[in-house]
Amino acid sequence: MSGRKTALVTGSTSGIGLGVAEKIVSLGHNVILNGFGDAEAIEKLRRRFEEQYGVEVHYYGADLSKTAEIEKMMEECMARFGAIDVLVNNAGVQYVAPIEEFPAKKWDLIIALNLGASFHTIRLALPEMKRRGWGRIVNIASAHALVASPFKSAYVAAKHGLAGLTKTVALEAARHGVTVNAVCPGYVWTPLVEKQIPETARARGITEQAVIEDVLLAAQPTKKFVTTAEIADFVAFLASDAAAALTGAIIPVDGGWTAQ
Ligand code: NAD
Repeated sequence: MSGRKTALVTGSTSGIGLGVAEKIVSLGHNVILNGFGDAEAIEKLRRRFEEQYGVEVHYYGADLSKTAEIEKMMEECMARFGAIDVLVNNAGVQYVAPIEEFPAKKWDLIIALNLGASFHTIRLALPEMKRRGWGRIVNIASAHALVASPFKSAYVAAKHGLAGLTKTVALEAARHGVTVNAVCPGYVWTPLVEKQIPETARARGITEQAVIEDVLLAAQPTKKFVTTAEIADFVAFLASDAAAALTGAIIPVDGGWTAQ
């Protein structure tokens, strides 16, 4: 990214998104934060980013499972910054249950947030990127965009869908200086992973420790959780000018999980 750019990182009040947002502000770019959380803590974070890095930081608490809220957020972002140069679609939730017991409402939420929201932010950000001849779209997918695990039907379907969306938009944007890629993390230690440990333990009838050792890290040959910093550094590379030829790629950052 040369010159000061503006990045929207969805779901950046926690976990991977927060790590990506901090990396981007540390490189001297403006950031639009989004996600849920304690209003005071978010305002403190916003102010710290501005003061520490001398950039402009805004926060929109839009619920990205709702099309109207996405449209309003995007309209306000475009009015304030003129363009979103770097769009990181990261907000996502998980739910773990056998398909016969999978609540239909959870299916609808996961498809809307983990897949639909990226469709909406992309369709609203892309025209200005194309007009300016430069843009970067990074979709935070998952190893579950490439392989499945039982009991995660909605999540796996949404993430495979996100991989398809990534490739399609990459083709449509290729002649306009806009790259579109999907990063596919393995297990990263964040609140999303922490929360699914008891759910997985219940679904599989095993202890929480067994979930960590035999389910989560069983798939990851490095036997280590990926770190948010490792994902953030890679996203920063994808957003750089050096990555101009890298588009339409579905890229694992998963400690070797999908090599098996
Ligand atoms: P997290 O729970 O720490 O953070 C999720 C973020 O999304 C939070 O900021 C939350 O407020 C926000 N969010 C949730 N619902 C929202 C909504 N309706 N509207 C707007 N924002 C909303 O999770 P994480 O582990 O950092 O996950 C981030 C992304 O990375 C997700 O898309 C997830 O699928 C993906 N991912 C995570 C892992 C992992 O192991 N943690 C692995 C692969 C992929």
